[in-house]
Amino acid sequence: MITNHNKLSPYTSGNPRRRSNGHTCGHDGCTFDATGRSKYCTYHRDVHYGQWRDKVKASSKVKAERIALFERVWDEAVEAGMVAGEECVPRPMVIQGYAPITEGMCGFAQVRVKPGNSAFANWLKKQGHMSPDSYTGGVYHYVGLYGQSWERKRAFARAMSSVLAEAFPKLNIYATDRLD
Ligand SMILES: [Zn+2]
Repeated sequence: MITNHNKLSPYTSGNPRRRSNGHTCGHDGCTFDATGRSKYCTYHRDVHYGQWRDKVKASSKVKAERIALFERVWDEAVEAGMVAGEECVPRPMVIQGYAPITEGMCGFAQVRVKPGNSAFANWLKKQGHMSPDSYTGGVYHYVGLYGQSWERKRAFARAMSSVLAEAFPKLNIYATDRLD
């Protein structure tokens, strides 16, 4: 391939070899010497730098879109969790000689996301929505609402995890709970 640098590049209109570093330009077919610290001649250095810059621009746009998606899905998941938690009617706990405890049995619930180093899990950690779980290698959200109501917390966790799991089917997302 014959490349006419001199007509295309303002940088090589003089002597393209003047800043030679002893290597030939890395661009396929180009026989000019590479310049300075570049592996390309002055012309191809600019061409490749332009391509690299375009790539960086494109990837930062992709990143911004991905974060917008994470935010939207998280907000939806919280919303779904709260609706489920409020709609849940716990089975009252009856203890002989005491008034029934309308919020039912006491317990905890979590939403878990694996793997813990996925882009979504990293974002969740960064936002403070989830914490690393060294035991499972994922991240988890501890349901802090509804006092000690196991059933409401569980309803919240299940609704939240199903929204998240639907949005990110490649991740392992599930709810866990236990009685106190
Ligand atoms: Zn070149």
